[in-house]
Amino acid sequence: MVDMDKIVSLSKRRGFIFQSSEIYGGTGSCWDYGPLGVELKSNVKRAWWRDSVQSRFDMVGLDSSILMHPRVWQASGHLDHFSDPMVDCRACKKRFRSDKIEETEWVHYCEATKGNKFIVPAGEPCKHCGAKRTLCPACGKGELTEPRQFNLMFKTFMGPVEEDAAVAYLRPETAQGIFVNFDNVLQSMRMKLPFGIAQIGKSFRNEITPGNFTFRSREFEQMEIEFFVMPGTDEEWHQKWLDERFAWYPKYGMRKENLRLREHEKDELAHYAKRTADIEYLFPMGWSELEGVANRTDFDLRQHAQFSGKALEYFDEESKRQVVPYVIEPSAGADRATLAFLVDAYREEEVKGEKRVVLNFHPELAPIKIAVLPLLKKNDRIVETAKKIMSDLRKRWHAVYDDTASIGRLYRRQDEVGTPFCVTVDVQTVGDDQSPADGKVTIRDRDTMGQVRVSVDNLEAVMADLMAGQWNSRKIDASPPFRSMPTNRQP
Ligand code: ATP
Repeated sequence: MVDMDKIVSLSKRRGFIFQSSEIYGGTGSCWDYGPLGVELKSNVKRAWWRDSVQSRFDMVGLDSSILMHPRVWQASGHLDHFSDPMVDCRACKKRFRSDKIEETEWVHYCEATKGNKFIVPAGEPCKHCGAKRTLCPACGKGELTEPRQFNLMFKTFMGPVEEDAAVAYLRPETAQGIFVNFDNVLQSMRMKLPFGIAQIGKSFRNEITPGNFTFRSREFEQMEIEFFVMPGTDEEWHQKWLDERFAWYPKYGMRKENLRLREHEKDELAHYAKRTADIEYLFPMGWSELEGVANRTDFDLRQHAQFSGKALEYFDEESKRQVVPYVIEPSAGADRATLAFLVDAYREEEVKGEKRVVLNFHPELAPIKIAVLPLLKKNDRIVETAKKIMSDLRKRWHAVYDDTASIGRLYRRQDEVGTPFCVTVDVQTVGDDQSPADGKVTIRDRDTMGQVRVSVDNLEAVMADLMAGQWNSRKIDASPPFRSMPTNRQP
């Protein structure tokens, strides 16, 4: 498993993710997506939207506002309950989530070894004296306070006057925007149960201990579905959604062995939830939540009905009764999914005695799909032809042109950002004094480094096959040394 430092440094070096406000020293809790990062994350969101909304007949989308009526957060329980237990170090003043404190490594001054300082792995005792952590894990000296509850919602003021009546909150989840629009969507779209509403949008949580790169930040994006069902069918639908969502990540190349399902124990379940299971990914810091799939019963609709005074019900034609639907909520993080795809795609290989770093993204997710490279940048005909091919391909895919290094270097650069295909234009393509042009270019496959020559006239059709995973394209004469990806990837 790659360590997070490598992912952080690759992300910065190659324009995936930068620290927010870096020139001012940065904030550890917010991140900016660079030119390649924004493509990657948009591709993740687009794939999710297409699969969750556009390709299903029982789903519609929504884009609700971040600032909502403050009563929403009373009804949802966030004002009273959306808090984490927090402890402070009396010496260094650092703050920790007391329920997660055993998940970080800790500093220990060991009596058994003349007070030497050790960094002990998370959750383990000191191997010299056997002591368990009781003091501050960061400084190793300070006592910790008793846990106190800390509300994670960001508070602000709506309008020009900073008074209690104007208090507003940045939403800590997108879900509530869906619940409060339940009736609007039901009526305007004439929906019939079961149906779902999906939304992608920013959420904000004043996390006590943000960290692990983009895994836990204070501003992040969620991809949430609220799927409304008849009471009594909820358990079956919950299982269906769990299966569906668990299969979604491997569909885009994530390795199955890095995914697992974790059921919430009874004492961990939110008070409104009948059952919740998390889809976890084996991140560099260990198994952690990628997505939660909860059966929230009819809690949310009932709460909003009670607080707003508006009935949030569905008329069931069959039984001629008003019912309050149950809701299944698959709630994923766009940033966490992007990070997991990035980590999962990272490979270091040795090729002819040299290290090769490759991101073997699924073509749907790759930020750049095709790089068009001239073999000789001083040959005007090669350059002209390469640029023309690039702009033709651009009509359909995100393609780039690069001539700033030798071909070997250019390939490595594209490998490192996960570009599935390079197209190389050489002397044979355009011809010279000795030989006529053959009108063919070389396509190089990122994963196998296999190459095949195809005619420029056929290039778009071949590319379409390759992008769709039909690696033995009928449009390529010889059977190319291309491997079928993503089902047949190297470990
Ligand atoms: P955790 O236990 O990790 O704090 P959670 O159980 O509070 O997460 P949910 O409220 O279920 O998370 O949120 C749904 C999804 O939103 C999570 O699975 C995750 O992908 C994403 N998410 C939640 N908090 C953050 C955050 N601080 N930074 C990035 N993504 C987040």
